[in-house]
Amino acid sequence: MRHQLKSPYFLALIFITFFACKSTKAPMEMPEVVIDEELLDTMVVTASPIVEEEEVVYELPGYQASATRKHDLLHTKLEIAFDWAKQHVLGKATLQLKPMFYATNTLELDAKVFDIHKIEMNGKSLTYDYDEQKLKINLDRTYTRDETYTVYIEYTAKPNEGPSGGSAAITSDKGLFFINPLKENKNKPQQIWTQGETENSSRWFPTIDKPNERCSQEIYVTVQEKFQTLSNGKLISSTSNPNGTRTDYWKQEKPHAPYLFMLGVGEYAVVKDTWNGKDLMYYVEKEYEDDAEKIFNHTPEMLEFFSDILGYSYPWDKYAQIVCRDYVSGAMENTGAVVFGEFVQKNSRELIDSNNDDIVAHELFHHWFGDLVTCESWSNLTLNEGFATYSEFLWREYKYGHENAERKRLQDMNGYLMSAQQGGTHDLIDFEYGDKEQMFDGHSYNKGGLVVHMLRSYVGDDAFFSGLKFYLEKHQYSDVEAHELRLAFEDVVGEDLNWFFNQWFFDEGHPILAIDNNIDAESKSVMFSVVQTQDPEEFLPIFQIPVEVAMYYPSGKVEYVEKWINQREQEFTIDIEGDEMPVVAVLDGKHDILAIIKESRTEQEYVDLFNLSNEFGDKNQALKNLKGTPSFSKILDKAINDDAKEIRSMVVSSLDPQEYKDKLINLVLNDESSAIRAMALKSVKDIETAKKVIKNEQSFRVIGEALNVIYKNDQDLALKEVNRLTKSYHKPLISKIAEIYANTGDEKYLGFFEKNINSVSLFGFFNYMKQYEKLIKSVEDVAKIVEVSNVLKKIALDQSNNYFKKYSSTNTIQKLISNVESRKKVGEENKEETDAINKLTEIMKEIVNTSTDERLRSSFQEYIQP
Ligand SMILES: [Zn+2]
Repeated sequence: MRHQLKSPYFLALIFITFFACKSTKAPMEMPEVVIDEELLDTMVVTASPIVEEEEVVYELPGYQASATRKHDLLHTKLEIAFDWAKQHVLGKATLQLKPMFYATNTLELDAKVFDIHKIEMNGKSLTYDYDEQKLKINLDRTYTRDETYTVYIEYTAKPNEGPSGGSAAITSDKGLFFINPLKENKNKPQQIWTQGETENSSRWFPTIDKPNERCSQEIYVTVQEKFQTLSNGKLISSTSNPNGTRTDYWKQEKPHAPYLFMLGVGEYAVVKDTWNGKDLMYYVEKEYEDDAEKIFNHTPEMLEFFSDILGYSYPWDKYAQIVCRDYVSGAMENTGAVVFGEFVQKNSRELIDSNNDDIVAHELFHHWFGDLVTCESWSNLTLNEGFATYSEFLWREYKYGHENAERKRLQDMNGYLMSAQQGGTHDLIDFEYGDKEQMFDGHSYNKGGLVVHMLRSYVGDDAFFSGLKFYLEKHQYSDVEAHELRLAFEDVVGEDLNWFFNQWFFDEGHPILAIDNNIDAESKSVMFSVVQTQDPEEFLPIFQIPVEVAMYYPSGKVEYVEKWINQREQEFTIDIEGDEMPVVAVLDGKHDILAIIKESRTEQEYVDLFNLSNEFGDKNQALKNLKGTPSFSKILDKAINDDAKEIRSMVVSSLDPQEYKDKLINLVLNDESSAIRAMALKSVKDIETAKKVIKNEQSFRVIGEALNVIYKNDQDLALKEVNRLTKSYHKPLISKIAEIYANTGDEKYLGFFEKNINSVSLFGFFNYMKQYEKLIKSVEDVAKIVEVSNVLKKIALDQSNNYFKKYSSTNTIQKLISNVESRKKVGEENKEETDAINKLTEIMKEIVNTSTDERLRSSFQEYIQP
């Protein structure tokens, strides 16, 4: 699973939800103490605490154990059909099981909010107890672990009913989702898709819904002929039925965890390819058919690359990727049937501004780490997510080079450090979480990936990939905990690794290092002092950190020396051989360590570091520290041509637009990165350049910036350009165009807003509504405002819309009431205004009284009619 962290709005949302509800460990129960303090001369004497007589309560610490396995679920066969109108799943499940170890005559299954019609064994019905969550079945006799038995269940699953919740990473736990089931929204396709992680597959079929369970599967799914289906495994057959429906039969023989079961239904273009004799399928909406391969960029090459470095070829039957509307997360690694949110679906022009490499790599890598070996409990989630996050680094390193990968590592580190600052830290393998959904955080993902990277740098590449191969082969098709990873590496490298796992997986926090070094030509040595300054109460007082110190020489030579940081305060000296002295030294020379590092340097050392090091981290540090200093000009020419766009972007943001006008214009017209072209244009604000750009540029991001510049200089020209742009594909520019149209105050543009309201992404919707409101408010005729409000009412009452859109539309109507109210003139009749207010209030009442959305009703409850 991968979150989608794109827009700042969403980032903020993630942080609020992630970290606000983050569990801090339960405070220890402390008896109240009374402390007496007396000031005697200059010495403070603190008396021993006097414990008041109070009964001490002894409690075991909270511990999230792995689920106990009473049965082994061997195989699941499902026959599934749908009632779109009721949003029900009509299911028949045939489950094969055997007792795990102890003989038993009962079976407990997860089955959330079902109607159970029939439970049978060998044609005879069984008795059961059901509490809407757990189904307790009395078997026909006692079974031992040598006996396999089969249970048959007919049921109706009602994923849209019953209690529901969710988390920041996975925003709903319904398990199965009907999109636009009643075709109320003509701009949205009808779809059904599932989201099993964490334990929500049991919203649509009965199972043992735990990550340490796994089984093979067959799914027969019956749909109308017009729909395509997708599930795990291979499509074995497709049979047309006399009633105009079709039954697709999907089968996967290799076992996987229930949370990885997937079912997708919709009208898709299915683009096919093959890799190594296996089918690759890209399910996209029909208008994206030609872009499908670019949307799921490099999939065959990634399959090849990951199979190769792991020494373990992609193990599953096929690899399909599908785009789903209103998806509740970023993407999900369902075995061989990966779901992506619609944000990945972009045409080739939009893909100029951002590709999908990271998320495609992440989900694919899960097919080894997550699907083939699965975390045995959510406490061990980082064994799935840490590796998947690290795959983004591996792919970039292979495809785009070390420096590009290093940018990703730094981003991940910043993400983790920010989350640690805001939400606190916990053990990476966290047995004390409050809710399993909280495990989907900056620890399991970012920190996990950073720790895997340190393991690699410590054992070396050969040992690292050999260790992973051994671990995968040893634990394939089973569940794992972190010790199994440790033992696999110990077996391969022949070295005790408890120190590494204890400090990084089973403890919390990170080192904070204050470093000083002195290059002394006289003694021909480099002296280092390193102090671990992390709070010893909060984190480990001493981390053990192997580093490779880098020393850069004026001739361009780089020398690495291995050192082991393992004291709270430590000094060491490196002797220099030969005549040349290094000019700058870096403790973590290869940038492998997860730590906050404060290394003091002179301005000249930063200049040397920038000029001599190829490490992104070094150049980044140097630039930050040189910005605004006289030495900045010494590195400017090199920096502005640096391969890393992050370096160039830092340069652009520090250039004075007047002084460096030509340099900036050159970047606008020639830089290979659209982000830099846009940034440079934003800085230089040159209208002639903007006019050139808007004619020739392909990137929507840069065109958007050009529109800004033109609008600020020449509003008529901007409007002309906008009118021209709206004649061809302009979806990525809708927000920008909305701003320009709103500023005209001309009601002839209301139609644009009405027409595009369904095309605006969820993230752009807030700004879009703000602009829409602005334009409506400038309309003089209040009757027209009522007309527009009827458009907004449709959005609010469309049940297939996201809550945020429904809320936003309703809220705008409410604001329009106040707006019309403010137009009333004292002492006048105000008949038109009063009339409009009455009509608008009626619209509000209609929304609140007919909406089936409980949250919407309660947000505007003052309009509920008595
Ligand atoms: Zn993931």
